[in-house]
Amino acid sequence: MKIAILGAGVSGMSLARFLVEGGIEQDSITLFEAAPVAGGLCRSKRVGEFTYDVAGGHILFSKDAEAMAWMKEQAGGEDAFVKRDRNTKIRFGSEWVHYPFENGLGDLPEGPRFECVSGYVKAWHERMGPDGTTPVTEAPKDFASWIRWRFGDGIADHFMDPYNEKIWKRPLADITSEWVAGRVPDAPVDDVLKSAIGMRTEGYTHQSVFYYPKENGFQAITDGLAAKLESRIRLSTPVQHVARKGEGYTVDGEEFDQVICTLPLDVLPRIVEGLDAGAVQAMESLEYNAVTCVLVALDRPEQPNLSWIYLPHTEQGPANRVTYMSNYSPGNAPEGQTSLMAEITSNGRGEAPGPQIAEETVEGLLAAGLLHREEVLFTDISTSNHAYVVYDHGFSAKRAAALEGLERLGIVPLGRFGRYEYDNSDQCVIKARALAAELVPKWTQG
Ligand SMILES: Cc1cc2nc3c(=O)[nH]c(=O)nc-3n(C[C@H](O)[C@H](O)[C@H](O)COP(=O)(O)OP(=O)(O)OC[C@H]3O[C@@H](n4cnc5c(N)ncnc54)[C@H](O)[C@@H]3O)c2cc1C
Repeated sequence: MKIAILGAGVSGMSLARFLVEGGIEQDSITLFEAAPVAGGLCRSKRVGEFTYDVAGGHILFSKDAEAMAWMKEQAGGEDAFVKRDRNTKIRFGSEWVHYPFENGLGDLPEGPRFECVSGYVKAWHERMGPDGTTPVTEAPKDFASWIRWRFGDGIADHFMDPYNEKIWKRPLADITSEWVAGRVPDAPVDDVLKSAIGMRTEGYTHQSVFYYPKENGFQAITDGLAAKLESRIRLSTPVQHVARKGEGYTVDGEEFDQVICTLPLDVLPRIVEGLDAGAVQAMESLEYNAVTCVLVALDRPEQPNLSWIYLPHTEQGPANRVTYMSNYSPGNAPEGQTSLMAEITSNGRGEAPGPQIAEETVEGLLAAGLLHREEVLFTDISTSNHAYVVYDHGFSAKRAAALEGLERLGIVPLGRFGRYEYDNSDQCVIKARALAAELVPKWTQG
């Protein structure tokens, strides 16, 4: 049995490891990776003595304790990690607002606070009907209307609309609300009212604690995986052609019995031979956003005790989120210095921002009062082309047609863009584990 895994991100490498743990010979597996380093979106970059995660600040957390322990083990176990309390805020003018926003209304200046509370209560009444417990209106299908239906006009105007416009880079009416189902918990109206009069309510607490590798950034986890897979990973080897051959496949001319694909579905029409026209069309119309990360290395000994912050307003520059990278781990900056990292999205099918984005970002952070010009030591930029799945209208049907087309050829899709799912790395691990549990018995018994 010869197995090809396309892509050596956390999905591809976790699958390889789970196959081996399940009894498949490691030597029967080959991973093809386009980049010179394994890890994909989990990679980190070291510049001088500063380290940052190249596809946005990454934290380790999971509802699945076993998956989280397995991930820690890859990087050297519990002792190789720092444990952090999540402390996230929204920068609103010169104020710090508790996150989630609807649980932080008491931190707002009076005018916006009134508009947000009033809008929330009106929207809540319209949504919940006279008894206050049973929704009487259906959730709107487009994200722009959904925001107002769910949060009201004040929160839409002051936070949700400007913040989401920064991230999605499209009119919000062009995005479906389906992706928010189960992701944005409904804050009880009492909690919102309490927060507005200054009584602290916590809101969304799923990631109240998180872990981060002490050294080498988040990539320490994928480095650990890569080390175990050693020579099975072919780095700097972009796959260009996959085709069926008899009962098996060829990958760039080399024969394999099985192919698992973690490459983005949208690039496959250029690579995979024999896809039907419907699948090709579906794959080519899947939308995605890129992320450009700007590291700002600072000659400042201390930062506020924050994990990351949201920047909803255009005056704060192009970044939507800033990670306090040196707070994640002291290993991310040299002694006596600190760092911030800003994330800027762009349409993945368009052009990524050029080098001027670093200065625009610094200007924005200065305007937001997050740093002083003389503290900036240097900046560094990294762009990841596939960062966010975009849930435009018709997304579910396109995704289903794309996956079915691939599966008809017997190629198994896996991963964030391999399946176009909004997965964090722990979910990639969980899905790789489930896939290995399904494949190992099939492959070893027959
Ligand atoms: C902004 C942002 C913040 C995030 N924050 C977190 C977080 O805090 N915590 C968390 O757990 N997760 C987070 N994630 C999610 C996490 O990064 C992903 O879920 C995970 O890295 C996806 O892994 P993957 O292996 O599925 O895909 P990828 O990492 O994309 O791997 C695919 C691999 O395929 C390779 N490839 C592409 N084309 C070819 C080709 N033709 N031939 C060969 N190889 C190819 C790529 O180089 C890449 O290495 C975040 C993601 C983003 C974008």
